[in-house]
Amino acid sequence: MIPIFDGHNDVLARLWLNDHTADDFLNTTLEGQMDFARCRQGGFAGGLFAVFVPPISYLEKNYPKKLEQTLHDIVFSQVATLLKIANQQQAKLCTSVADIQHCIDHNILAMVMHFEGADVIDERFDLLEILYVTGLRSVGALWNNPNQFGHGLQADFPHSPDTGEGLTLLGKKFIRRCAEKNMVVDVSHMNEKAFWDTAKILQQPIVATHSNVHKLCPQARNLTDQQLIEIKNTQGFVGVNFDTAFLRSDGKRNTDTPISTIINHIDYLLNILGEDGVGFGSDYDGGFMSEHWATVAQLPNIISALKEAGYSQDLIEKICYKNWLGVLERIGIA
Ligand SMILES: [Zn+2]
Repeated sequence: MIPIFDGHNDVLARLWLNDHTADDFLNTTLEGQMDFARCRQGGFAGGLFAVFVPPISYLEKNYPKKLEQTLHDIVFSQVATLLKIANQQQAKLCTSVADIQHCIDHNILAMVMHFEGADVIDERFDLLEILYVTGLRSVGALWNNPNQFGHGLQADFPHSPDTGEGLTLLGKKFIRRCAEKNMVVDVSHMNEKAFWDTAKILQQPIVATHSNVHKLCPQARNLTDQQLIEIKNTQGFVGVNFDTAFLRSDGKRNTDTPISTIINHIDYLLNILGEDGVGFGSDYDGGFMSEHWATVAQLPNIISALKEAGYSQDLIEKICYKNWLGVLERIGIA
């Protein structure tokens, strides 16, 4: 089975929302789209695991009890769950490409800590320093709402990614600090102005961990051709998001969506980014999936579809994990 290293999942947020422990993830079948057993079943070898504070309005409506915790509590709880999962024979926290490669070679789940929506990081970036030492290697400064770093990007369809102002002064400083630390600077939730602000600052490959092609699905979260060309020029990378609303030309959440929809986005991205610039950023446990890839256990369906579409073994291995390792190497996470 070809291992898959994936750019985005929200399992930590889901475990936190449902009061699940690291043990639950490791030893039981959970109600969501991924747990340890199904990762094994589907060849999910590892990926970026997002620490994510859901929007307060969402918590008020659906999980009001959770608001008794402070934002810091929420972050620490998810980080702790990640560390507890990773403190095992069968899963490890990875902070370098060598770590990830070791895990893949030894059938150990490779976990890279990612932060999505850095609202809780203070203006002195103290929490960034602490989380970096804890193992954080990838940061998305923005999510859907405005924060101190920028204006965020409300997922909207059909809509251009040009949805407002770009990075704030503090946001630019934050991006610089993350880049100095050789972390992944994720542009997946940036609006167009914030994207170009970031492109001006960065001297490292631009990475969109979980976004698709705007031409094929005109969702504000997806990338225009100009953005894709800029990513290509930096030897950057795009992880294809499996949420049907980010794949389909009608922007719908539809369980009936065929795998060819994913292949179309991969084809388009390969054309602009080349063979080294494309991989996966599934959004499992954070996205609306088709029945054909409803959980991580069904990932082999996608590999089969790539084979049927005539992709070579070599290219499939690149898309499945080698390209992710390549761009992390170029960024120099260590
Ligand atoms: Zn996201």
